[in-house]
Amino acid sequence: MVCQNCGKNLSEGETICDVCGTVAVEQPNNSHNMGELISFSSKISDSAFNSYKNKSIKWAFLFSGILAVIALVGFPVYGNVSGEIDWPNSLFYGMGIGGMFLVIALLQTLKKSFDKTWDGIVVNKDSYTVKERDNGHTSKHTIYKLKIQKDSGGYKKHKWRDIPGVYSYYNIGDKVRHHKGFSFYEKYDKSKDTKIMCAACLSFVDADKDTCPRCKCPLLK
Ligand SMILES: [Zn+2]
Ligand SMILES: [Zn+2]
Repeated sequence: MVCQNCGKNLSEGETICDVCGTVAVEQPNNSHNMGELISFSSKISDSAFNSYKNKSIKWAFLFSGILAVIALVGFPVYGNVSGEIDWPNSLFYGMGIGGMFLVIALLQTLKKSFDKTWDGIVVNKDSYTVKERDNGHTSKHTIYKLKIQKDSGGYKKHKWRDIPGVYSYYNIGDKVRHHKGFSFYEKYDKSKDTKIMCAACLSFVDADKDTCPRCKCPLLK
């Protein structure tokens, strides 16, 4: 097989091009039909996913831009009204905090752009209750943990507190694929699922649908 994006020769069983990271699509002459719900979908290359990514980057910058402006205006105003921070120090605080919001948005975007597609297996799931004491009263919390072993070595761990998130969607032994720039995993075998998780917005959508009604991205199946 040859990489459709950069033309590199891929060896037998190699599903992700190690040069450009493109997911290799099996040629249709590979006649054994395992059913569309048992395979990794090639629909991830649909342009809807790219526009979803670009839109979420724009929103992240707009959001942190608004926070930056609030900090820039808020600190001097607060300093003036309360008399606690002198001018121009209040302006420098505002610039510092405001700049921090923009730097965080920039770092998150950079992190996404360096992300790579990889395959792995769910090796462990765990949920348990913890008791926490603060100010004399005890509260109970449930912790959910998910552990994925990467085919290339190493682990990826996820943890939720009280809200299980996408924890219950995965089972131990599931073969999964992480798609570059997205937070969760496509399951290789979706044949037993009545709902499929949208790779972009993480909504659960009826498995007979083709598109996510919330974000309009195609369902990976
Ligand atoms: Zn390639
Ligand atoms: Zn969606």
